[in-house]
Amino acid sequence: MSASTLRAAGMVTLVVAALLGSAYALGRSLVPDHPHRGTGVAASVHNPHYGDQPPSTEFPGPPGGGYGGPSPDASPSAPDNARQPDDSEGPYGARTSTGSTRIALTFDDGPDPQWTPQVLALLKEYGVKATFCVVGENAESHPDLVRSIVADGHTICNHSWNHDITLGKRSPGVIRDDLIRTNDAIRAAAPDARIAYFRQPGGAWTYPVVSTCEELGMTPLHWAVDPTDWQAPGAATITDRVLAQTGPGSIVLMHDAGGDRSGTVEALQHLLPALLDRFQLEALPTGTT
Ligand SMILES: [Zn+2]
Repeated sequence: MSASTLRAAGMVTLVVAALLGSAYALGRSLVPDHPHRGTGVAASVHNPHYGDQPPSTEFPGPPGGGYGGPSPDASPSAPDNARQPDDSEGPYGARTSTGSTRIALTFDDGPDPQWTPQVLALLKEYGVKATFCVVGENAESHPDLVRSIVADGHTICNHSWNHDITLGKRSPGVIRDDLIRTNDAIRAAAPDARIAYFRQPGGAWTYPVVSTCEELGMTPLHWAVDPTDWQAPGAATITDRVLAQTGPGSIVLMHDAGGDRSGTVEALQHLLPALLDRFQLEALPTGTT
């Protein structure tokens, strides 16, 4: 090969690398901001007041396209230098990325006797491991489902005792008691479960809730992709949103409880094979394997 050929090959490599980098950055920047931010949590007389969106703009919202610094809504009480922001961090440093090219599906607000078994069956059918952010009172009511989640090899995440979206504004003692009570309910059901993550309901992170969950050995877990399935927009919309927004490293927020989740279950039937075509899927690591 001549020197000029080698130079040409080198240039091609550089151009391809630059294009790949731009495509990745573009992909992250294309993740839209929360379309319903600030519209509040859906209230239903039939269902719990669950849903992982902030109730108002007083809390930091989901990070949108990549997180490169403190949320504009962040409370001034958060130390500016608490962390060095990087792509894997969300509000108050909560994780939004798996830290690799793999993606992670997360299911919040359960366990629920109607929907959780359907989600578990689909995950098993496709050989996918995921992460379940369980609500303490639901874990206490359905210990068999907590055991099923753990037995299937999924990762457990603490999602507070009763989905208190304002938990972060309570005293450190109240926050701590809530998280411990939830962990106790999970461990009462599945004594060997490693609870490596906490997700603040509504994504309404505050510095006290982040620091308390870290003191208890849990990583604060946010998300990068939110199809707002809790608003039941229909399976097609949920599917389209997830496929459009998911990129390498995405943590995807969905729900296996808190209302009629038939749309989420139906969406998974399309999403699981489609995502498997494009990505490796993982349960978030618990540090035990
Ligand atoms: Zn939730």
